[in-house]
Amino acid sequence: MVTSVMPTYGRIDIAFERGEGPYLYTADGRRYLDFAAGIATNSLGHCHPHLVQALQEQAAKLWHVSNLYNITEQQRLADRLVASSFADTVFFCNSGAEALEGSTKVARRYHFHNGQPNRTRIVCCTHSFHGRTLGMLSATDKEAYREGFGPRVQGFSHVAFGNLNEMRAAMDDDVAAILVEPVQGEGGVNAASLDYLRALREIADEFGVLLIFDEVQCGAGRTGKLWAYEWSGVAPDILASAKGLGGGFPVGAVLASEKAASGMKPGLHGSTFGGNPLAMAAANAVLDVLLEPGFMERVDQVARYMWNQLLPLTTRHPDVIEDVRGAGLLLGLKLRSPNGEMMTRLRDDHKLLTVVAAENVLRLLPPLTIDKTHVDEAVAALDAAAAGVARHAA
Ligand SMILES: *Cc1c(COP(=O)(O)O)cnc(C)c1O
Repeated sequence: MVTSVMPTYGRIDIAFERGEGPYLYTADGRRYLDFAAGIATNSLGHCHPHLVQALQEQAAKLWHVSNLYNITEQQRLADRLVASSFADTVFFCNSGAEALEGSTKVARRYHFHNGQPNRTRIVCCTHSFHGRTLGMLSATDKEAYREGFGPRVQGFSHVAFGNLNEMRAAMDDDVAAILVEPVQGEGGVNAASLDYLRALREIADEFGVLLIFDEVQCGAGRTGKLWAYEWSGVAPDILASAKGLGGGFPVGAVLASEKAASGMKPGLHGSTFGGNPLAMAAANAVLDVLLEPGFMERVDQVARYMWNQLLPLTTRHPDVIEDVRGAGLLLGLKLRSPNGEMMTRLRDDHKLLTVVAAENVLRLLPPLTIDKTHVDEAVAALDAAAAGVARHAA
């Protein structure tokens, strides 16, 4: 008999009752260090006092009015995102996939508006993950996600991540945009080189196509800068954000330059919930913290510390851990032993929560608010779990 919750997830049999900072607690009092953070979503940990207060205050005032009216909190968040990014304009939605659907529509409409309606194809990368809507299933490079779900949505193609020759060769006159994650999350925690990102900007300009960065996972502070693209010194034309932006409240956003959004006008895109006062209060509260002077520098410092603590594990446990990869606090350990087994050991034996990724990678996505003591706690757990795996194999 089917479960009342549709069985779309392989769930771990554990339920949390409350959270505080980087820790989660079960009803029977077990405490876990959360280096999954709702898959890079609880960017400020659990129950951050500033977020709790902002949501409680907003909840007592106004939840939802629809985009028929001006929404003060939405205007404020848009102004702040514009002021702190390349973007001139922002569309709000509720998830990452929706932010990418919106990004695709903005890009296609740009070319339509400029007399090139044939420019519709989005060139994506291998190992990409862009979400589960029918459209984004075609952008995501994973055949298993598409099987049995009908005809593929047209207009998406793939080239090897990191390969500029392939990207250049794909630039036919039907291309609307290049879509890349500056740091791939689900696909195995692969950080694009900064030179690659810069070269993508050049290729986009040379061939008159738009550049879209999917920062749903790597944006909103996760790499130690507010936006991952900032490390490269070049900006995209369109950026999709979600996950960490709402700190656990569903918020997605399409950030665009004035030029890229030039084809958009009232009536062309919309979302009932997108940008509602409650969601905007959450995201504004997240931004309050991310934009505090020194906050990003602290994320960068703790991320570098974590990288340096993780690296020795590869020499201590060469049969278990192959390498450390990623950027900022989007880190991965490429394993030689099964990543699922490691995740289970860490959780059950060492009370550390992690997430798996493709290519047998174990993903480490702590809240951005952690300090060195949390890193030390996690690294000790990883060290012990890796030793356990090695013993088990011997
Ligand atoms: C999670 C994710 C998405 C999809 O976001 P949803 O909110 O699950 O729709 C898209 N792109 C990237 C890079 C992601 O990590």
